[in-house]
Amino acid sequence: MSMELHRCFRCGWCKLPSDFVDYNCPSYAKFRFESFSPGGRLWLIRAWLNGELTWSENFAKILFSCVACKNCAEQCKMRFKDEIVDWITSAKSSAIEKGLAPPKVRDFLENIAKHGNPWGLPRAQRASWLDLNKFEGEGDLLYIGCECAYEERGQKMAKNVIELFKVAGLSFGTLGNEEECDGNEAYMLGELGLFQELASKNTQKFKELGVKKVITISPHAFNAMKKYPDRDFEVLHFTQLLLELIQKGKLKLSELDLTVTYHDPCFLGRHNGIYSEPRKILKSIPGLKLVEMKRNKENSFCCGGGSGNFVFDLLSGSESPARLRVREALNTGAEILAVACPICKAMFEDAVKDEGSDLEVKDIAEILLSSTKML
Ligand code: SF4
Ligand code: SF4
Repeated sequence: MSMELHRCFRCGWCKLPSDFVDYNCPSYAKFRFESFSPGGRLWLIRAWLNGELTWSENFAKILFSCVACKNCAEQCKMRFKDEIVDWITSAKSSAIEKGLAPPKVRDFLENIAKHGNPWGLPRAQRASWLDLNKFEGEGDLLYIGCECAYEERGQKMAKNVIELFKVAGLSFGTLGNEEECDGNEAYMLGELGLFQELASKNTQKFKELGVKKVITISPHAFNAMKKYPDRDFEVLHFTQLLLELIQKGKLKLSELDLTVTYHDPCFLGRHNGIYSEPRKILKSIPGLKLVEMKRNKENSFCCGGGSGNFVFDLLSGSESPARLRVREALNTGAEILAVACPICKAMFEDAVKDEGSDLEVKDIAEILLSSTKML
């Protein structure tokens, strides 16, 4: 890997969006030091691998503040661009193997391994708030995910999705307390052994229950399941299914006089190329005006929550990616910042409070649900 890293000549394209109007690597945007940019990070990794740099708390911060948003891979002009995030992940993996990961990262992974969620909360609490039939081989499986299972704002988002599916007459169920973590953050942190264990547990469980189609609420779970080695089920993000239900006439929508801007989650957008479905949903609501932020789709600016940072937030502060993004959303004149990911939702709700702003953060299901209720 060291020789491959040498091919990066630190031109710096990778920290920008395609029109160069701003800084688009979240950790560089926050710290403004070259060492926190993708190219700078790669050169430090190379020096570490070659024994020219010793491990330090600061290097750990540089490495683990990469949130795996994939902007660098999108913008680098070199043939190796698709390997950049993998190289950073490999370095994280090596640090974890050597027992050098920061304590918060170590705890995060240990909690997933022991308790099936990054906070170490009891498994029995996972679905205690959920009033829904368990999946018994009929219809689709709704995968709730850790953020929606344990975080109040995520639970609200899950309830919105569930209510919409009920309105559309969909047959579905969940795994209740038997649900396991999807493993996306373990994968992005380079804990591949843990990822494989979770992938195998989930695949096995789905097989036993006869699951044919999994609908995820979080784009992180969607991304992880797409990578499961022996996957024999279809996986959809809830926005893909909602659009299908609208197009089939299963959801009747009435007018909403709102101006909305939409934030592309990295694990739905850049990682999986899904940009149009959430926008088509919003545009299908009569009266709703969709306005774009300066950075959108492939150029979207991450909320800063990826790769476990929604828990061990190494990018917090007045110039955090989430706060920068909230300012960008406000500049559009929108009254609502629409999201399609429970992690983005939590990151932006906190940022809005910190900014003292009256911007409302709403998930797409909540907006759509209001439109169905207006009838
Ligand atoms: S990763 Fe690519 S874009 Fe970034 S500094 Fe290196 S060569 Fe330039
Ligand atoms: S993946 Fe995102 S956070 Fe990580 S180096 Fe690339 S642009 Fe920066």
